[in-house]
Amino acid sequence: MRDKTKMIHGGITSDERTGAVNVPIYQVSTYKQDAPGEHRGYEYSRTGNPTRHALETVIAELEEGNAGFAFGSGMAAITSIMMLLESGDHVIMTDDVYGGSYRLMTKVLNQYNIEHTFIDTSSEESVINAIKPNTKAIYVETPTNPLLKITDIKEISTIAQKHNLLLIVDNTFATPYWQKPLTMGADIVLHSATKYIGGHSDVVAGLVAVKSNELAERIHFIQNSVGAVLGPQDSWLLQRGIKTLAIRMEAIEQNTKKLIAYLEQNPRVEKIYYPGLENHPGHHIAKQQASGFGGMVSIDVGSGDLADKILSKVEFFTLAESLGAIESLISIPAKMTHASIPADRRQELGITDGLIRLSVGIEDIDDLIDDLEKSMQ
Ligand SMILES: *Cc1c(COP(=O)(O)O)cnc(C)c1O
Repeated sequence: MRDKTKMIHGGITSDERTGAVNVPIYQVSTYKQDAPGEHRGYEYSRTGNPTRHALETVIAELEEGNAGFAFGSGMAAITSIMMLLESGDHVIMTDDVYGGSYRLMTKVLNQYNIEHTFIDTSSEESVINAIKPNTKAIYVETPTNPLLKITDIKEISTIAQKHNLLLIVDNTFATPYWQKPLTMGADIVLHSATKYIGGHSDVVAGLVAVKSNELAERIHFIQNSVGAVLGPQDSWLLQRGIKTLAIRMEAIEQNTKKLIAYLEQNPRVEKIYYPGLENHPGHHIAKQQASGFGGMVSIDVGSGDLADKILSKVEFFTLAESLGAIESLISIPAKMTHASIPADRRQELGITDGLIRLSVGIEDIDDLIDDLEKSMQ
């Protein structure tokens, strides 16, 4: 089955008893047992719920894994995965990971003596140099936020295998429609499904997929023990989102291409960060490991004042954090998502006050272009 068909017919798509073409929302916490200890696959909804199970099945199929897991948020998914580690273990992490992941490592897991090193994972040499005797995992985000840096998943997986480390990939920006880390040697792939997978800015959720049965068992044990599970209503919403993931990603990328063509000839735009551009340092790797470049673009307009002005004037780009929805979103990372990073460190990374991040939606592209054109005047 190909991806577009999998999104519609993959996983568990209907209700056998009634013929309903969608999996119902099993809004239930517990299940009647036929005899003590004899149940029909479900005992208690933290351990398993049929609506959540249907979602977990389809994400596993889309990522070409053998098991999937749904959590109450992307951060709940990441935290649960980190619970695979023990006190004293060390993790190597992409230096410009999502701010919440950075906070989890530096303010929460540090209290449990889980060590970390943040490095530029687009450099294999840096990854190798960061390996310590207690290193247990490499955690990669690609593309990253907001500069869309690319890490070569295959290269890093070779390093991880050689040193017996788990390779964990945050695939939120690319989605399984464009990029499948498990097929390139990653052990665990995860998503903030709040973004493209849900796609409609109406649900907060996290998804995980793995290939190995041993990891699947351990993650299920953690999911059930920690209890950060996704509810049936939200599981159902994500399945609905997945049905249109392919067409949304296609439409978003088409819009993004046209928007970039416009931005390239706009004299106010000093720099464009997009992995689909030839001059992007990760372009060739992105082209090899992903079948699309996605809908996230960052532009530098040179000054914080101009960036502020644009954001105060836009009509169709909604000023908001988050990304990956059908509506276009706009933000200034230096003042919003990345405000907690010290100013000099931000400057060093290229996250200037004039850097604007765009999450392109599926509105009519001509309206989006007109919107930016008017706002820049
Ligand atoms: C939003 C996001 C997260 C966190 O997910 P939540 O659903 O907000 O908890 C993790 N990684 C990336 C790349 C994200 O964009």
